[in-house]
Amino acid sequence: MVFQSSRHKRPHSVGLASRYLQNLRRRDFLSGAALVDGQWVSGGERDPVIDPATGEEIADVARCGAAGMEVAIAAAERSFPMWRELLPARRGAILRSWASLMIEHEEELAILVTSEQGKPLAEARQEIAYGAGFLEWFAAEGERAYGETIPSHKLGSLLHVRMQPVGVAAAITPWNFPIAMITRKAGAALAAGCPIIVKPAPETPLSAMALARLAEQAGLPRGVFQVLVGNPIELSTPLLSDTRIRALSFTGSTGVGRLLLEGAAESVKKVSLELGGHAPFLVFDDVDLEKAVKGAMVAKFATSGQDCLAANRIYVQRSIYGAFVEQFAAGIAQLRIGHGLEATTDIGPMTKLSVADKCRSHIDDAVKKGARVVSPQQDASLGPNFVPPTLLSDVTENMLIAREETFGPVAAVLPFDSEEEVIARANSSEMGLAGYVYTDNLRRAMRLSERIECGMLGINTASFTGPPIPFGGWKQSGLGREGSRHGLAEFMELKYVCFGDL
Ligand code: NAD
Repeated sequence: MVFQSSRHKRPHSVGLASRYLQNLRRRDFLSGAALVDGQWVSGGERDPVIDPATGEEIADVARCGAAGMEVAIAAAERSFPMWRELLPARRGAILRSWASLMIEHEEELAILVTSEQGKPLAEARQEIAYGAGFLEWFAAEGERAYGETIPSHKLGSLLHVRMQPVGVAAAITPWNFPIAMITRKAGAALAAGCPIIVKPAPETPLSAMALARLAEQAGLPRGVFQVLVGNPIELSTPLLSDTRIRALSFTGSTGVGRLLLEGAAESVKKVSLELGGHAPFLVFDDVDLEKAVKGAMVAKFATSGQDCLAANRIYVQRSIYGAFVEQFAAGIAQLRIGHGLEATTDIGPMTKLSVADKCRSHIDDAVKKGARVVSPQQDASLGPNFVPPTLLSDVTENMLIAREETFGPVAAVLPFDSEEEVIARANSSEMGLAGYVYTDNLRRAMRLSERIECGMLGINTASFTGPPIPFGGWKQSGLGREGSRHGLAEFMELKYVCFGDL
């Protein structure tokens, strides 16, 4: 299925991903085999992997079903006692060698990510480094699951809290960061002593399968790390109902997160959810405008806008509103859309057509209700998955873009007058993942850090993620945290032990 219509002309990039992939040193990265109980499973039915820029099929992958998942769960359960009993330092050493292999194969992994996800190659390389960072970080943090000793409330007793691995874990991961969203979960689970089964997004299976090849090479034992691709419902149903799965970690949409939470209730497992965002980005008139515009460029257009941290509502104080919009539009005019493998590309295709369609519907709805498109019009005919970077000014709260996550390169700018008013507007969403504040007034920054309802807040910065930070959201943006010592705790149980009669 190569996109060919009179509206969509992009013949020169058709075949680009295939040509890059042909040159991969590691041919096994393209075998499309799942890793189940230490075996590479590639027979049976297969599903195509599509380059979202061109619609071209670049590979196909083995489709696993419920029977394969049963084998995987049993294998993970068998591997648990051995993995749990390995010293944390030994588990850490394996995670470190996995991270080193990722860095050694950075370019090949980045090509896979760009080919199936669409992001510019430079961003894909950053994702490999970011993803390997979680393995490195949790390798060390696994050795610091100290537990606690509590001052006793009873004479002659010692109160001790131990941290122990919860059991077999499962991860359901998204397509926007096909490498890092796996290592962020797997690094924590494996460091905690839990085997993990990964079900990646069907759009981006090759990245997950390549990670599994490197995991095996790094020495992760049979059954400890497994990857199965296929129909999401068929594969997730046993993960939800099976009592051998003790923890589920999900990243994706709030709708699916809700379904999984409900499904996991039956077996009462630990659930952590990293769901949608709708981040407010507040710009006060005391700030250096250039700095705020640079921040907005990053917060809106990284990963072509397909980022749960993306600024979706950019509130600018009225006295600098016009100047901000003008400078922001000038910045956006510099962005080039195209195939992620082309060196000039800043904005790639949307990975899924449904995401591109949602972006277009947000633009249409906003324009119908009085917003103005102030960015220069770029070529929109590259293919149905492409959305040119777009700046909408005069956005109001009744527009869809102000009420729900866009997940694409469409920026909405809204004016505000007072601090009280903008705090209320920022907090009016049911989402509460990230927020951004640009101000040079220290007191104001302190007040806002207290009052903005979100799990992560950048003050005068748009880049704040990384392995040591607790990543997660408030309200319907999720439950639990990833990264940091809190991320490790998602895969551990506390056991209080009272030593009496001392
Ligand atoms: P999604 O929630 O449908 O997909 C995420 C993962 O869940 C994938 O692995 C998918 O196969 C799986 N999945 C889908 N339906 C399932 C089901 N019924 N049972 C079990 N697993 C299921 O996300 P999407 O529709 O591909 O993306 C749409 C929206 O999701 C985006 O617009 C964005 O709001 C949100 N999203 C957020 C993130 C994030 O980083 N938080 C990532 C991707 C998508």
